[in-house]
Amino acid sequence: KTFCRSLPKIELHAHLTGSLSDATVLRLLHAKRQEGVVDLPDSAEVVLKRGHNRTLKECFEVFRILHCLTDNLVALRTITRDVIREFVEDNVQYLELRTTPKVIIGKMTKEQYIETVLDVIGEEMKANITIRLLLSVDRARGVDDAWDTLRVTKQYMSQEKYKNLICGLDISGNPNVGDLCDYIPVLEAARKDGLKLAVHVAEVLNEKETLHVLKSGLVSRVGHGSYIHHKCGGTHEMVNLVKNFSIPIEICISSNIKSGTVKSISDHHFQHWWKEGHPVIICTDDKGVFNTSLSEEFQMCAETFKLTHDDLCELCLCAVDSTFLPRNERDELRKTMQQKLQHLR
Ligand code: 5GP
Repeated sequence: KTFCRSLPKIELHAHLTGSLSDATVLRLLHAKRQEGVVDLPDSAEVVLKRGHNRTLKECFEVFRILHCLTDNLVALRTITRDVIREFVEDNVQYLELRTTPKVIIGKMTKEQYIETVLDVIGEEMKANITIRLLLSVDRARGVDDAWDTLRVTKQYMSQEKYKNLICGLDISGNPNVGDLCDYIPVLEAARKDGLKLAVHVAEVLNEKETLHVLKSGLVSRVGHGSYIHHKCGGTHEMVNLVKNFSIPIEICISSNIKSGTVKSISDHHFQHWWKEGHPVIICTDDKGVFNTSLSEEFQMCAETFKLTHDDLCELCLCAVDSTFLPRNERDELRKTMQQKLQHLR
């Protein structure tokens, strides 16, 4: 456990709202009650059941509740700062945070949402961490909303103050709603605009969608990919596409087990990709909702799949190659990671 904590780590798949700790959620609830908001879910319901197993549908209900608590720019500032600081505490050296810009009439525009998150990222980068932002497209909200998110994202990419802080676009949201194939034109445009793409693919079994998206050649990293490997319900064709395009896979074990998309940890697809030497990155997904930390994800993975200390160091170092940083910044990060890992090997 201590070893995993001391590892200098890279987090590439963390949703802002899903990452809220219990302490932050309690503070938000308190603030809402102070404001006199009464129609809030009971705190016990939100907090005490956190980390328990739930169906994917129930997870999205939890996100809805969390979004009610974070429906203003003050709360957004607080949660962004808290989440970043918690990752710093867990010895995360480089963080790619992702979040869905929201419009709440009378309270925030997408522009204000993005600007607030970027401002906090800029402030917190003074600490011992490098942070980049991916803007999330929620597949349940439709393609028009995705185009709108891309439009606003481009506005901030070109601003000197925020230059380089935005590194990509994510497609997430309930995998049982909507069709990823409809989003291909948005992905093509985003790539042309210089954004890298992290897409939730094959989180649930969906052969048609998975093949279509993988064949597009647009995806820079796969989120989850639970049903891609032929030993886990996918097909050889899917595996070949992932390998031929060298698409790293973001692995979120607690999330997959607790939301029931993967049956048990010993069945987890991590092992197959890892054995085959394919790039995998251990991530948290939603450290708050699934009551975990990046160190705990490393520990769980090490215990289940009998990874040595050297294997864990290798996983940390190889994650550098899967970041959305430009080459020179990757090289810098690799050097820092190598130096820090030297003391642990
Ligand atoms: P936010 O974008 O509000 O900061 O973070 C929460 C959102 O991220 C959720 O509403 C959902 O759209 C997305 N999300 C978080 N975890 C998952 C996950 O495990 N799978 C998918 N498909 N989407 C997720």
